[in-house]
Amino acid sequence: MTTLSATTHLARRVADIRQRVAVAASQAARDQAEVTIVAVSKTFPREDIDAAYELGLRTFGENRVQEVRAKFSEPLPDDARVHLIGPLQTNKVRHAMRLVHRIESVDRPSLIETLARELDKQESSLSVLLQVNVAGEAQKSGCAPEDAAALLAQMAPHSVLRCEGLMTIAPFVSDPEAIRPVFAGLRRLRDELQETSGIALPVLSMGMSGDFPVAIEEGATHVRIGRAIFGDR
Ligand SMILES: *Cc1c(COP(=O)(O)O)cnc(C)c1O
Repeated sequence: MTTLSATTHLARRVADIRQRVAVAASQAARDQAEVTIVAVSKTFPREDIDAAYELGLRTFGENRVQEVRAKFSEPLPDDARVHLIGPLQTNKVRHAMRLVHRIESVDRPSLIETLARELDKQESSLSVLLQVNVAGEAQKSGCAPEDAAALLAQMAPHSVLRCEGLMTIAPFVSDPEAIRPVFAGLRRLRDELQETSGIALPVLSMGMSGDFPVAIEEGATHVRIGRAIFGDR
């Protein structure tokens, strides 16, 4: 495949995704501008990310700190954002917080404690999301829904940790309708947490290549799309 045709493929896929985001938003009587596409670039080379940037994508999702370090040693333009969407070990926190604009995978007390301590030391702050395992799948990361309030309360006194919302990974199913309740459940949990904590949680990061239209219909503000943009991994 020549570089030209690879770029054309990417441009087609991005146009297709934007169209489907717009359709899903209008189906839910929402403004498509409320939905940010997080282009999940894990395993794809930097040149693909640069090509996606040229097509107007600005937010990129990566799931491994080592990969972020390697791929973004040459920084992206100032208006680009990198979100860490994969599980984070506490011993990688210091690198992660310097390299990314948001950590979407905060899910346990030890991680919150380490993040707050390191951010205090560096006198910087970071946007984070609380990852919730709505479906209760044993092998997936994310806190249990019933632990979300306590984790939010743990973050609240730390002004360096700006928790802006919730993230979930839905189970893999062939019919995305089957997981609509997972997305609706995350939105309901967010509504409850906002109400009881008084903390604004505007961000709902949910939906991937196979299920993002349903997630948008249920209120997603961020959809994390990998394969449908960059191709199969
Ligand atoms: C890989 C990944 C995605 C993207 O999945 P696709 O099926 O490629 O769209 C989204 N969210 C997380 C947390 C991921 O690890």
